[in-house]
Amino acid sequence: MIKIKNNTDKMLEKSFQALGTVNRIRIFDHRKEPVLYKAIARVLEIDDRMSAFKPDSDISKINRNAGQRFQKIHPDTYRVIRRAVEFCDMTDGAFDITIRPLVELWGINRKGSEIPSDFEIQKAVKLVNYKNIRFHKISSGVMLEHPGQAIDLGGIAKGFAADEVQRIFSENGIQNALIDLGGNIVTMGKRADGLLWQIGIQNPLAPTGQFLGSLSAENCTVVTSGSNEQFFIKDGIRYHHIINPQSGSPVRNSLLSATVVCHNSIEADALTTALFVLGPRQGIPLIEKMKAEVIFIFEDLSVMMSKGMKDRFKLNSGNEKQISS
Ligand code: ADP
Ligand code: MG
Repeated sequence: MIKIKNNTDKMLEKSFQALGTVNRIRIFDHRKEPVLYKAIARVLEIDDRMSAFKPDSDISKINRNAGQRFQKIHPDTYRVIRRAVEFCDMTDGAFDITIRPLVELWGINRKGSEIPSDFEIQKAVKLVNYKNIRFHKISSGVMLEHPGQAIDLGGIAKGFAADEVQRIFSENGIQNALIDLGGNIVTMGKRADGLLWQIGIQNPLAPTGQFLGSLSAENCTVVTSGSNEQFFIKDGIRYHHIINPQSGSPVRNSLLSATVVCHNSIEADALTTALFVLGPRQGIPLIEKMKAEVIFIFEDLSVMMSKGMKDRFKLNSGNEKQISS
């Protein structure tokens, strides 16, 4: 008798820590396991180069030499900083990778719970300005103009890494995969059962894994930034990890999460972070310009989405306001 194997038996999934988060990659062709390991090695390499915490990373070296000298860095890091600066420009500095002094001050990645003084905040705000990043193309060097300035690629590196995993898979004959780098999702092809990937959109007020709705995702990237990722609550206010470079404080608006759907994960990653700062009114024109789609979730769990999401996003329950574009 021939035993028909359940399709899901073929699934090969690896979870690993990198880029300050848990990553999960799923493929279906066991013969391609070496390609999966190659992709994981690539993510770890990107982490080693772009981490703001690892003392030997390119970013730590640039930050240590701020105001002093150009730091020669790997072309990968050079490329990501270059691309990041394009997003800084495009968002008029709502996205600003020189945000590091403020991220440190607020202790966002350290699970801090102290609110810095206005004096400290204003001092750090003065250091944040992506226009002070200098490039030396020939030597692949980067320098920050002023001492104390520092780069943080936390809002964009996962997107780059997800695009890299996809590139490696495409070049090595993997057609069907689910790449999830800490919420930076890239879908390739179909699921094992031949259906389209369904990506759950987290209910930001519920435990992880409880979805407000889901969207069908065909060969695209789905990236969510939420104020529920890293935060502390003091006097009823949620201080989270996305900072308004102008005010110097974690963004305070009625947004709980922003999800961007498009074809490029680096772009989606930068956009979600920027959208948090810009809010829907300023964010929608940017999304339209980039030909991306967006889903905003607000504090009252109402949902607002761009036109193209209407047929793709299914809300489990709740109210929905559609944006006309
Ligand atoms: P997550 O890391 O949860 O996926 P994001 O992609 O939005 O979320 O990245 C948030 C990270 O980006 C922060 O932890 C910080 O390192 C960095 N960051 C915070 N505010 C900004 C900003 N205004 N511009 C650029 N990067 C930021
Ligand atoms: Mg981001």
